[in-house]
Amino acid sequence: MSRGSIILDQSRCKGCALCTALCPQDVLAIDREALNGAGYHPAALVDPLEKCTGCAVCALVCPEVCITVYRAPVMAREARVK
Ligand code: SF4
Ligand code: SF4
Repeated sequence: MSRGSIILDQSRCKGCALCTALCPQDVLAIDREALNGAGYHPAALVDPLEKCTGCAVCALVCPEVCITVYRAPVMAREARVK
């Protein structure tokens, strides 16, 4: 189970690729197959190995504020490392 995850509102994404360039885990990518209502290819989470740490870099750099970050509760993390 990953330590973090995100919800990305693709309808507001402008496809600037800031988040994809700066994600330390390299789990964000521009979805070239998708087009949103504004005509942009939006970013998407591509994390099959559940590497997202919930670091929130993506949310901090997104100029459109379309990323919400979720982190696993500390208790759950501690239970997993035992
Ligand atoms: S929270 Fe961190 S690891 Fe997860 S997608 Fe955003 S930048 Fe990448
Ligand atoms: S930084 Fe925001 S607007 Fe830019 S590609 Fe990522 S989600 Fe889309």
